[in-house]
Amino acid sequence: MASAAEAAYMAAAALFVGGVMLLRAPATARRGNLLAAGGMLIALVFTLLAVTLRHTVWLAAAFVVGAAAGAYVARAVKMTAMPQLVALFNGMGGGAAALISLDEALSALSRHAPLAAATAVPGMLTLIIGSVSFAGSLIAFAKLQELMTGRPIVFPGQNLLNAFLLAVAVAAGVLAVAGAHPVPAGVLVVGLTLLSAVLGVLFVLPVGGADMPVIISLLNSLTGLAAAATGFVLENDVLVVAGALVGASGTILTVLMARAMNRSIANVLFGAFGQLQTGAGQGAEGVVRPTSPDEVAVLLAYARQVVIVPGYGLAVARAQQEVKDLSDALAARGVQVLFGIHPVAGRMPGHMNVLLAEANVPYDRLYELEQVNPEFPRTDVVLVIGANDVVNPAARTDPTSPIYGMPVLNVDQAKTVVVLKRSMAPGFAGIDNPLFVRENTRMLFGDARASVAALLRELREVA
Ligand code: NDP
Repeated sequence: MASAAEAAYMAAAALFVGGVMLLRAPATARRGNLLAAGGMLIALVFTLLAVTLRHTVWLAAAFVVGAAAGAYVARAVKMTAMPQLVALFNGMGGGAAALISLDEALSALSRHAPLAAATAVPGMLTLIIGSVSFAGSLIAFAKLQELMTGRPIVFPGQNLLNAFLLAVAVAAGVLAVAGAHPVPAGVLVVGLTLLSAVLGVLFVLPVGGADMPVIISLLNSLTGLAAAATGFVLENDVLVVAGALVGASGTILTVLMARAMNRSIANVLFGAFGQLQTGAGQGAEGVVRPTSPDEVAVLLAYARQVVIVPGYGLAVARAQQEVKDLSDALAARGVQVLFGIHPVAGRMPGHMNVLLAEANVPYDRLYELEQVNPEFPRTDVVLVIGANDVVNPAARTDPTSPIYGMPVLNVDQAKTVVVLKRSMAPGFAGIDNPLFVRENTRMLFGDARASVAALLRELREVA
């Protein structure tokens, strides 16, 4: 059975890698997900077959409850709440890894056996990383779910305290592994687990504003590392491979997202970005030029090229189908329609891609930041639909802006920009947007779905 399990694990690992490769393109992502899930099923079944099961009733009950809860939550979750769900699932992974290592360590100690040399170090690492990831993810969830303030919570000496807690946790781990110490190893192990959980909370508290996606991705990679370390503790190869894949892809995603915001990872973690700015949200100074659907419909009808820039408000309004219909109607009139997708538009990586895929917008109409920016100077109309931070020109022009240096979509370079939103309220980063008072900007106030539907109606009236 053991060799069958080994063979199955190899197959599962190959499916994980194949799945990740397919996840690279929106067109194949769904297949990639299914492939990786298939790999996980194989790994799960062969693990259950390979071990002598005890407490089968408890196991079965946990399996049924966990699977049912997971399936229900995944189906019921609103697209806008997806980042919280990812944070929560991620936390569960970190917590599970930490609990397994805690159980392994405490069972060894209760048998008066020393912590096995080969597994003790990965075990302690799992305890620290898994607990940080678990508690940090819960805080990320609470922030995104608005159970607490989403802004950075900072206090003097925070980074020093975090460094101190980490040092104490590592020291406790070293002492627990070394043994022969007046403090019982069990106390050290439990203590370092709790300390690491506190560290996880303190680690995420100062992160806020636009940095939440980066921290979620980082926590995700930490959970992967914790799972890989658990694989060493349990001597389970497939767990090592799966954990390493999550750790590596999470790390790459973290780096790419930080780069998309033109920030260093250290600045994201310790910069407390997104604190309320004095005067932020009071509206940029200048003249606001409101417009109406009939005016915009005429602009669109006679445009040669239109770029649609979706943002978080598109998700809130669930306007993707109306937007697709509008883009089809424009294309039918011979207008060149592109979608400009910013890497951190919305509230999770790929948020806009998922929404637009739901409405069957063809992938070849989606242009990434680097591809679409050169298009703006030759674009007649840009429709900014529920986007704010990702089109803020202050990132390019105002060195005092908190988002200065973040690459944004240069929509202000188009002939006319029409912004669809409900008010002059700021976006996620809580800062004003001078785009809204530029001379070539028109504001179409209202819920994005209603506004786009009105635009479509008016467009049909234009001869
Ligand atoms: P923003 O959060 O900057 O702005 C969204 C805008 O949508 C708001 O200004 C709001 O204005 C408008 N809006 C909300 N509801 C509606 C509605 N029903 N109809 C019309 N408009 C609406 O979004 P962006 O996509 O531009 O930027 C994303 C921000 O979120 C960035 O700061 C990013 O860093 C951050 N972030 C990104 C994550 C990711 O992974 N993508 C995860 C977490 C945060 P009004 O209220 O006036 O309507």
